[in-house]
Amino acid sequence: MRILILIAIALFLYIIINNQLRKLKSTKPKTITEQMVQCEHCGLHILQNEAIEEDHHFFCSQQHVEANRHSKQ
Ligand SMILES: [Zn+2]
Repeated sequence: MRILILIAIALFLYIIINNQLRKLKSTKPKTITEQMVQCEHCGLHILQNEAIEEDHHFFCSQQHVEANRHSKQ
């Protein structure tokens, strides 16, 4: 009879722990949706964190930052 009680307690704890783990998983912050931006020079779409920002404009590469600078002058 004692074994049955122990099994019941173990099962009860198992269910509680499982629920807690599920809650922890579901409350994890969602992966930040990566914003796409367009290169001001060639129009290529790139991720904002990979883009080079200059004067509130985004560029796919340093070359296009330079190219845009030259085209403005
Ligand atoms: Zn570009």
